[in-house]
Amino acid sequence: MNYVTLGRTGLQVNKNGFGALPVQRVSMDEAKKLLRKAYENGIRFFDTARAYSDSEEKIGEALQDVRDRIVITTKTMSTTVDGFWKDLETSLTLLKTDYIDIYQFHNPSFCPVPEDGSGLYEAMAEAKKQGKIRFIGITNHRAPVAKEAVQSGLYDTLQFPFSYLAGKPDLELVRLCRNRNVGFIAMKALSGGLIRRSDAAYAYLNQFDNVLPIWGIQRESELDEFLYYQDNIPCMTEELEEFIRQEREDLSGDFCRGCGYCLPCPARIDIPTCARMSLLLRRAPSERFLSQDGQAKMKRIEDCVHCNHCVSHCPYQLNTPELLQKNLEDYRTFL
Ligand code: SF4
Ligand code: SF4
Repeated sequence: MNYVTLGRTGLQVNKNGFGALPVQRVSMDEAKKLLRKAYENGIRFFDTARAYSDSEEKIGEALQDVRDRIVITTKTMSTTVDGFWKDLETSLTLLKTDYIDIYQFHNPSFCPVPEDGSGLYEAMAEAKKQGKIRFIGITNHRAPVAKEAVQSGLYDTLQFPFSYLAGKPDLELVRLCRNRNVGFIAMKALSGGLIRRSDAAYAYLNQFDNVLPIWGIQRESELDEFLYYQDNIPCMTEELEEFIRQEREDLSGDFCRGCGYCLPCPARIDIPTCARMSLLLRRAPSERFLSQDGQAKMKRIEDCVHCNHCVSHCPYQLNTPELLQKNLEDYRTFL
C-alpha cells in the first residue's frame, strides 16, 4: 500500500481517497456498506461537501465509531460569514464529529484572504482557533485562483482537477504545491467519467508522490477496482503510455468536464450530460443516452434562452450554448 503526506498538514494517508459525492445517489444502506468496506480495507481519507446533499450524513452514520482513525474533509460554498458558520455547524452535526480535519472553501470564484472584505478567511481562522477544524483548504477549478491560494501561504491543501489529461499549467501547480509544502488533493481523476481505464488513471497519478487522488465511488465494483490497485499498483508501461497519448489526442481541445458549476440552467438543460453527449456516445455504452429519456433530455437544448449563466460560471471558459448545439446536431445523427 502506498502512502502520501498532505504537505504541511503532516496527515499521512493511504494514497487512495474516497470521493463521497456519488454516495448521495445511493440509499443509506448501500452507502454505509460502501463506506464501511472502504474503511475496513484501508481507505482513511473521506472527502465530502455541504453541497453533496446527504453525503455527510451517510459518512457520519457509517464511520462515527472510527472517527479518530480517519481523515474527514468537507467544504462550504457559502459566500457570507453567517452562511459559513451555519454550514460548518451543519457539517459537524451530520458527520457526527466535533472537528473537521480539513475544511475547504468549495470552488470560490476568488481566493479568500484576510481583510478582503468578505470575512471568510477570518471565519476559517476563527474556526481553527476554536478547534472545530484542524486545517484550512480550498478547492478550485480555476488555475489562477488555485495558484494564488498556494502562493498566499494561507492554505494547507489545494483540491484541484488532475488526471492524465492534465496540461502544463496543472503540472506546474502540482510542483508549486510541493515547493510550498501544500497538500495536493486530486479530484476528477477520471475526468467526470470520460476516462475509462482506471488502471491508466491510477498509474499516471501514482507517479506523483505529493498527490492524493480521490476517486468518486458509487458502486461496489468501482470500490473493488481501487482496493485491488492498493496491493497491485498498476505500473506505467509502454502500452499505458501509448494509450494515454492516444487519449490526450482524442480528448484535446475544449470539452466539458461535467463539473456542473454552470447549473442551474433556467431551461432545465442537464448541461454536464448534454454538453458531453458526443464524447459519452463514443466512450460509454450508448443505449441509455439514446433512450426516450435521453432524447427528451437532449431536446431541451432547443429551449435554451441564451441567458449566459452557464458561460459566466464555466471555469473552463466554454461557450456552452454553442457546445450544446453541436452535441445536439451530432446526437441526431445517432437516431
Ligand atoms: S445559456 Fe442556455 S444552456 Fe446556458 S444556462 Fe442559459 S438557458 Fe441554460
Ligand atoms: S459546461 Fe463548463 S461548468 Fe458546465 S459542466 Fe461543462 S465544464 Fe462544467
